[in-house]
Amino acid sequence: MAKYTDSSCRICRREGAKLFLKGDRCYSPKCAISKRQAPPGQHGVSRKKLSEYGLQLREKQKTKKTYGMLEKQFKNYYSVAESMRGQTGENMLQLLELRLDNVVYRLGLAKSRAQARQIVNHAHITVNGNKVNIPSYICKEGEVIAAKENRAGNKYFAEVKEQKKLNLPKWLEFNPEKLEGKIIALPQRDDIDLTISENMIVELYSK
Ligand code: SF4
Repeated sequence: MAKYTDSSCRICRREGAKLFLKGDRCYSPKCAISKRQAPPGQHGVSRKKLSEYGLQLREKQKTKKTYGMLEKQFKNYYSVAESMRGQTGENMLQLLELRLDNVVYRLGLAKSRAQARQIVNHAHITVNGNKVNIPSYICKEGEVIAAKENRAGNKYFAEVKEQKKLNLPKWLEFNPEKLEGKIIALPQRDDIDLTISENMIVELYSK
């Protein structure tokens, strides 16, 4: 899959928000956004007042980059969301949350979505007992997502089992001993802790 080559912190500085792309570092004083709010560029170019279109574009970019998507892939989620019943913006966020790499991240099996994608790609994850190595797989309510311990992943997953603080969203449950989680409900907008305005994305794509 194609990916961003820019540094993760540079992406956050461009968007002027913490997108939590780097795992532990994002929660430490080393976070570039905590240290410096200015957008990337020589001498920290000042932020201009954005037009309505500019604001909508920034919301889309922020969401897209949070989930590590490129434009075409992201637009596909919008098209699917539009064809579903209910609010398009909320449907789109629900689909993004249900991606297997995001579920692995939310369960605490990875420290960032990028790491989760790698864990899935390397076939460490099963869904209902079957190996699934497709990060974009959309999980369903009731499915059981588990980490498959093997020689390559042993040390890493032993550390995951030791995790004390789990910030688990209420649509998921997780058993650290078994490294196994379950989707107990579909994520609703209130369950998704992203400070984005999905309606602005809908307005942008509806033009
Ligand atoms: Fe973004 Fe994390 Fe870098 Fe902070 S440390 S700027 S949240 S990627």
